[in-house]
Amino acid sequence: MKVTFLGTGTSHGVPMIACECATCRSDDPRDTRLRPSIYLETARARVLVDAGPDLRQQSLVHRIRGVDAILFTHGHADHILGMDDVRRFNAVQRGAMPCYGDPQTLDDIRRMFAYVFDPATPKGGGLPLLELVAIAGPFCIADLEVQPIPIFHGRRPILGYRTGAFAYLTDCSRIPDEAWPLLGNLEVLVLDALRVRPHPTHFSLDEAIASAARIGARRTYFTHMCHDLAHAETCARLPAGMTLAHDGLVLDLEQ
Ligand SMILES: [Zn+2]
Ligand SMILES: [Zn+2]
Ligand SMILES: [Zn+2]
Repeated sequence: MKVTFLGTGTSHGVPMIACECATCRSDDPRDTRLRPSIYLETARARVLVDAGPDLRQQSLVHRIRGVDAILFTHGHADHILGMDDVRRFNAVQRGAMPCYGDPQTLDDIRRMFAYVFDPATPKGGGLPLLELVAIAGPFCIADLEVQPIPIFHGRRPILGYRTGAFAYLTDCSRIPDEAWPLLGNLEVLVLDALRVRPHPTHFSLDEAIASAARIGARRTYFTHMCHDLAHAETCARLPAGMTLAHDGLVLDLEQ
């Protein structure tokens, strides 16, 4: 399985509009972060996790030719505002896009994209074709076996995902008791680490390090970073086996 990090930034992206801090002005390409998303490719499946406002740019940069399904972690703007660009995949693949999420996320999508689901909206090339699929346990997309992982994003329960020995937990501030047994024997963990200072709905870097140590994956990559975390400087002080992910990072894993 190939994992491509399409975006590793928080909701504002990095650089942030109208910020002149050192990270936002950095020459290091790893300090440029689009909104969070990954793309998974197996022999028979191509899957996006989340579809944020940078989906068009991410698809062009990484020459994404097709998407068989989108897994949504939750319905916040930085994870779903790319929905309109799904139209291109509808056209290329001549079909509706299966969109997996928990019931609250699917409700958020129906509400935020009400025009898409309103029978009165004129059809034509203007509407993405979305097939919303409520997640009620593990499921498969072709040869990709997906285990949803319940996590908390502030007080809101959302989903992370595991497939094989790879897990992706973005927008996480707490891992509940029932999730820990689902996180054993990981080769790669991707985990939310927003910034150094605590935050009510995201792990701080220290909280992320502590959770990553307890999970014990062979390698951990942090994501959803804001401009407080400069890439090189932050990576230099992380424990062995842990690093910040960056946009464009590609991992090849056994499925
Ligand atoms: Zn900045
Ligand atoms: Zn969020
Ligand atoms: Zn987010």
